[in-house]
Amino acid sequence: MIIDAHCHAGKGDGLTGPWDTSAPLKNFLRWSEEAGIQRTNLFAAFHSDYAKANAAVSVIVNKQPQRFYGFAFVHAVNDRGRIFELVNEAVTQYGFCGIKVHRHDARISREICEAARYFSVPVLYDVVGEVSMVELLATEYPEVNFIIPHLSSFSDDWRAQIALIPLLERHPNVFTDTSGIRRYDLLEMAFKRAGPGKILFGSDGPWLHPAVELKKVFVLTRNKTDLQRMLAGNFLHLTEKARNGEYETAGRPKPVFSKTDEPLTYEYRDPWLVK
Ligand SMILES: [Zn+2]
Repeated sequence: MIIDAHCHAGKGDGLTGPWDTSAPLKNFLRWSEEAGIQRTNLFAAFHSDYAKANAAVSVIVNKQPQRFYGFAFVHAVNDRGRIFELVNEAVTQYGFCGIKVHRHDARISREICEAARYFSVPVLYDVVGEVSMVELLATEYPEVNFIIPHLSSFSDDWRAQIALIPLLERHPNVFTDTSGIRRYDLLEMAFKRAGPGKILFGSDGPWLHPAVELKKVFVLTRNKTDLQRMLAGNFLHLTEKARNGEYETAGRPKPVFSKTDEPLTYEYRDPWLVK
């Protein structure tokens, strides 16, 4: 089985570029079928209101629940104080099994990590090159699994991608996906050093062609077990607890955050760094 772990769907409400405007699936699903991909994990495009965007994705997912999985997109700043509510709705009403966060919106927060821990869902966090954060996430939240897509940079930032590989190797709860990775030598290094258990196949559809993205996985190895892990096994493993509703019996206390709890800042500030 082949599962595409990274695909956008639905309309954005911006008009900057396709990423916040529209993610149409029509051609993409035909390409996926031709490429032998059986299932696709969907989440929204950039949006100013992720409650609406997630609801729209859930309509697509739940029309064909055997064909699609869904992740809840959340914004660390705009959705402050309602992250739990958004994830709760996505997991319990829509049957979603993960959270998507983008550094372009805002830096990930404790509120998001604690919601992920409560619901036993992985967090797919595009760090946009901000790799140092991964160390904190991995050590502060060892029970939460983090998928850092594109080896940390969709824009081929070599310094970021090379820096992510040791973190993938060292932290059992850090993963990456193959979507959009152009520097094949780095993907191969990640495979050799961190291993097939840390890499998920993803396409970043509907804007990238799934067959082209898939080929990168098939040229990494011919080992069937390794391929199966990257193509489906890792995704299924990471989402298994959520899909089985493990949180219902886990008895964890519900995390409480208010709109004003956490002084979130857009800029990274090291108090001891003199400019
Ligand atoms: Zn993406």
